[in-house]
Amino acid sequence: MSFSMDIKKELTRIETSGICCKEYELTGIIRAGIVIRKYKGKPRVLFTTENASLSRHLYSRVKELYKNSPDIFILKTRRFHNHTVYRLEFTHLLGEEMKMIMKKMGISIDGEKISYKNIKIRKRCCKRAYLRGCFLAGGSITDPDRSYHLEVTFPSLLLAQECISLLKEFDIESRHIERKGHYLVYLKEGQEIVDFLNVIGAHNALLKLENIRILKDMRNQVNRIVNCETANLEKTVNASLRHVDSIKYIAETRGLDSLPENLREIAVLRLENPDASLSELGQMLNPALSKSGVNHRLRKIDRIAENIRLNGI
Ligand SMILES: [Zn+2]
Repeated sequence: MSFSMDIKKELTRIETSGICCKEYELTGIIRAGIVIRKYKGKPRVLFTTENASLSRHLYSRVKELYKNSPDIFILKTRRFHNHTVYRLEFTHLLGEEMKMIMKKMGISIDGEKISYKNIKIRKRCCKRAYLRGCFLAGGSITDPDRSYHLEVTFPSLLLAQECISLLKEFDIESRHIERKGHYLVYLKEGQEIVDFLNVIGAHNALLKLENIRILKDMRNQVNRIVNCETANLEKTVNASLRHVDSIKYIAETRGLDSLPENLREIAVLRLENPDASLSELGQMLNPALSKSGVNHRLRKIDRIAENIRLNGI
């Protein structure tokens, strides 16, 4: 199951106590989710989802709040994988009473045309509920193992802007773009997504996302350390190879006996211990020598070899 599906399943199981919040959550679902499709010459008001728990949730909320139920159709399609689409139809409910309810939701339906008005949500609990409804109907989130992206699709610019300003009230900065006549409100930062999940009450999903973020951070840190150590190791190995090269060259040309005693001593140790670090070589000397002391002597040897290469013996 995708991360989006997981979250929506979690959201439909939230025990909303207040009737106010139930109404606003439903308002969010309806505003973000219903469409009008013409079928056999007649416009029909539909809500379509692939999410079984969302279709059950919407059905039972409408029944609970308005003592009416939408028709429900289950369609099996062979497109993509063999998946199931749940279609809820509200057309037959559009009597005077339902039209009043829709009006309260800021929706007016005129034949095939659907239009939206801004609604005023007073209470903070209801704002959360409304955003939850919008996410249930039009939201999706990428698997946080891959990347951070959360979006909610709306059928009108007015709804997208309303969502953006509601999010601002919770200190969440979002942006929107238009795509094929739809308006997408989206979040790109891990922290913003965590805040959003908190606002809409998806606490399990939030914990899961936080865990992934922590793991990712740790993995990055470990990678940085490993890269740094690899680079250092490479430097050490290259230096050691260069020293051994110089020493062998001196041995073959002037002979190691030509070196002053302090250099000859370190040259022999280096040849015998090509894998030892500079500090380890220093420890082998008597008296012991610091890392920088060893480095200094080996650089002198490098220069002598270089001199022989350039000027001959
Ligand atoms: Zn409320």
